[in-house]
Amino acid sequence: MHVQEQHKVYSPNWFQALHARDPGFSYDLKVRLMISRTPEICTVCNGHSHRDYAIMAENCLSPVRLCNGCRAIYRDAFGEHAVVPFLSGHA
Ligand SMILES: [Zn+2]
Repeated sequence: MHVQEQHKVYSPNWFQALHARDPGFSYDLKVRLMISRTPEICTVCNGHSHRDYAIMAENCLSPVRLCNGCRAIYRDAFGEHAVVPFLSGHA
């Protein structure tokens, strides 16, 4: 397993890793966070959430913040075992 990023969701290091992979999405998400005025939003759809999950996909482990709806979509796409609660120790 290649662990690509294990930074706390929405931390500066997390954004740096996301930016390296997908600058457009990184920028879009920053704007959405700014507009929401709270970090408690789903990474995908802006739905309210403070729950972080690690997604195992394509041999990469990516922490994201997901609402219940998006978590269900990820589970359908990657399987139940691929979406696990993410508890980060470091930022
Ligand atoms: Zn969502």
